[in-house]
Amino acid sequence: MLAGDPALDFANTLHWRGGNEVDFLPDYQSLIDWAVPAGLLSDGERKALVAHARICRDAATETHSAAIALRTAWRERLDRRTSARKAPLQQGVSEGPLGQMLAAALAEPRLLLPGDALAMEPASRVLALPVARIALAIAGLELIPGERKLGRCEGDPCGGFFLNTSRSKPRRWCSMDSCGNRAKVRGFRGRFIAEEVKEPNA
Ligand SMILES: [Zn+2]
Repeated sequence: MLAGDPALDFANTLHWRGGNEVDFLPDYQSLIDWAVPAGLLSDGERKALVAHARICRDAATETHSAAIALRTAWRERLDRRTSARKAPLQQGVSEGPLGQMLAAALAEPRLLLPGDALAMEPASRVLALPVARIALAIAGLELIPGERKLGRCEGDPCGGFFLNTSRSKPRRWCSMDSCGNRAKVRGFRGRFIAEEVKEPNA
């Protein structure tokens, strides 16, 4: 959870690691496990959903597929936004498949309120809670006006998304411990080799 926003952390659940693209959300269980540290579900809600998912396996699989489709549409929008650089925040989110998915996920307002909804709604419907919360996070990031700058990790082939919060020095890496550190080591190695080449002629 390094993006500074749960909607962007969600986009980053498909991520390059060690030269491979890794999906951190391969099933419903991993979706709800991820949603707790992401700040989108409480641990109590996660436990209730685990119990519901055992009863309604098909609905859990369906919700997982909806989450992955939402992530694909969301990543496409972020891709466009970060490559165009100039696309304004509030423009166009309600159009196209992403808008339709957000509208569908947000159509159950009771799911978005903590508390009784989990106990009162049918299990198959309650399972959609993580997708509703993700949609709320995306809608919040896209629709609430504010000075938020979207950044993308320069690590190749990382491309992780994050919020650029620094005014003075734009953030360049998803994490200093991984991509930032690798770039530093590469830069150091490059300089070291360049100096070694220079040495015999000096
Ligand atoms: Zn990175």
